[in-house]
Amino acid sequence: MKLVLILFFSLLCGVGIAQERDQPNLIVIFCDDLGYGDLGCYGSEKNRTPNVDQLAKAGIKFTDFYSSSPVCTPSRSSLMTGCYARRVGMHEDYTGHWVLIPRSRRGLNPEEVTIAEALQSAGYATACIGKWHLGDQPEHLPTQHGFDFYFGIPYSNDMQSKRRGDPPLPLVKQRTVIEAPVDQSTLTKRYTEAAIAFITENKSKPFFVYLPHTFPHLPLFASPDFLGKSANGRYGDSIEEIDWSTGQILASLDRLGIADNTLVIFTSDNGSNGRNGGSNQPLSGMKGSTMEGGMRVPMLAKWPGRIKPGTVCNELATTMDLLPTFCKLAGAKMPEQKIDGFDITNLLLGNDGAKSEYESFLYYRRRQLQAIRMGDWKYHLPLKAIHPNWTTPKTEAPGRPAKLVNLKDDLGELNDVSQANPDVVATMQVIARKAIEELGNDSNQGTEQRSALTLELSAPMVLKK
Ligand code: MG
Repeated sequence: MKLVLILFFSLLCGVGIAQERDQPNLIVIFCDDLGYGDLGCYGSEKNRTPNVDQLAKAGIKFTDFYSSSPVCTPSRSSLMTGCYARRVGMHEDYTGHWVLIPRSRRGLNPEEVTIAEALQSAGYATACIGKWHLGDQPEHLPTQHGFDFYFGIPYSNDMQSKRRGDPPLPLVKQRTVIEAPVDQSTLTKRYTEAAIAFITENKSKPFFVYLPHTFPHLPLFASPDFLGKSANGRYGDSIEEIDWSTGQILASLDRLGIADNTLVIFTSDNGSNGRNGGSNQPLSGMKGSTMEGGMRVPMLAKWPGRIKPGTVCNELATTMDLLPTFCKLAGAKMPEQKIDGFDITNLLLGNDGAKSEYESFLYYRRRQLQAIRMGDWKYHLPLKAIHPNWTTPKTEAPGRPAKLVNLKDDLGELNDVSQANPDVVATMQVIARKAIEELGNDSNQGTEQRSALTLELSAPMVLKK
């Protein structure tokens, strides 16, 4: 009997160890406002990005990968929850701001299960290193949403309005401001050091590192080693430093002997604003718009021995897919609440016949459903005049008629082919009605919308002397 018990327990332990080894480490390098055409492997001839390009050579490059929003806060809420921002109440509001600002009372609802919480429950060590932008109040910070470790700036690096009463830009560790104003030229380097330290410390257990860089969001900074070195001004300098950072992180995985068990993903929160050297080529539109250039972003993934080198994937996938995919790979429990993303393991691993599971993809902006993609078709919904409090980028008229384009041969989204394809338009209108019913539109609440956490009071994040 004793022998049987010993055997039984050794078997149990054996299974435990095997499971732990099966859990890959997960790293998401998330740039801020990096455009579709800003990397060498996506056609940039200005920015030198050899380390990021190496991800494409050694792994997979997606051509049709989307952020769920063309601006920061909604986009990040989707990566965290696997949902459209409208579903989790983190879409834009009517205050005239595109995104959360310092002292916003709104933030992610603690009832949402974040990607970090799901992985933490499955035994992962979790870190958020960089720009958060889902609320700067103590209740809203990464440490309250499943991250064991947080080091970074709580919102965008341009949010320093004296008129609004913004505090000096804070650098935060866990929940405490450790420097303000932070010297922005040091950020990329310090994020890199913090990420490598966390990886090294947790090398013998599964870890999740979320590295949302501060750049190339404006204003642009780079450390003295990179400043003035690129052929594309400060924009190129900041990207080349992020490329260096990526190389450092990959080298640390090799050095620690854990590269083969680590999936590294590199992508962006939205497109470039097209100024200061940024590029969304060959796409049209820019950050803040629901044209392709606002929401289609670079996406590269490397996982030696699992992802075939040099793969290109043309299937539609989004940042909302990372949560379900990571849950699958980590053996983590999926959130019980409804999410919008899909497990894309088959696409990542290039499995035969792997197809996108999106019947349609929704482009929300300014609380409005503005466009829908279905296969190669993209339907731009007719828009009424935009709310007077909202700033209107020059690229978008305040109102517009409906338009159907085919992205396969019209990446510029110029040619309206709705007349010739009435069936496609009719299907799109059905999809739009269903989406609007569930997720709402403008100020109308949808039947399946959940709410953010809104606090009674808020205070600025300041350095305590
Ligand atoms: Mg952004």
